[in-house]
Amino acid sequence: MADILTAQERSVLMGRIRGADTKPELFVRRALHALGYRFRTHVRGLAGRPDLVFSRRRKAVFVHGCFWHRHGCRKTYTPKSRRHFWQTKFTANVERDKRVHEQLARDGWRVFVAWECEIEADDAFVDRLVAFLGPPRILERTPRDPTGPLAGEPGTW
Ligand SMILES: [Zn+2]
Repeated sequence: MADILTAQERSVLMGRIRGADTKPELFVRRALHALGYRFRTHVRGLAGRPDLVFSRRRKAVFVHGCFWHRHGCRKTYTPKSRRHFWQTKFTANVERDKRVHEQLARDGWRVFVAWECEIEADDAFVDRLVAFLGPPRILERTPRDPTGPLAGEPGTW
């Protein structure tokens, strides 16, 4: 996705927004907003109430905490006490996520899961999200210089 963000632009963007607020969902919202995307949040009436919804693109993004949604990374530990309680809860969460994704797919939606650990540590995460969403509107209007708005006006983020 180098045609949308250079490595340096991406790094600056991620650094600015990470520094402003570490809550993963807010980070994703700010990053996409800065790139020119417009979306709704927590849309009722859609399966699973996705965190970000791009209605015209018919795409939905979930921001998942690794612990609760069992990503399988280092954050996916199981507390030592009350193991059965936790296992039951985790299993229910994973099964609900699966059902929600299947329902959205049946309804014609494409789904992207943004994992907490990747948002925190992986700058390429934004590129994958942009690849999933397609170009933002602001870039669609300026095809000759797709990086112009970002490269020229870093202070306006
Ligand atoms: Zn994770």
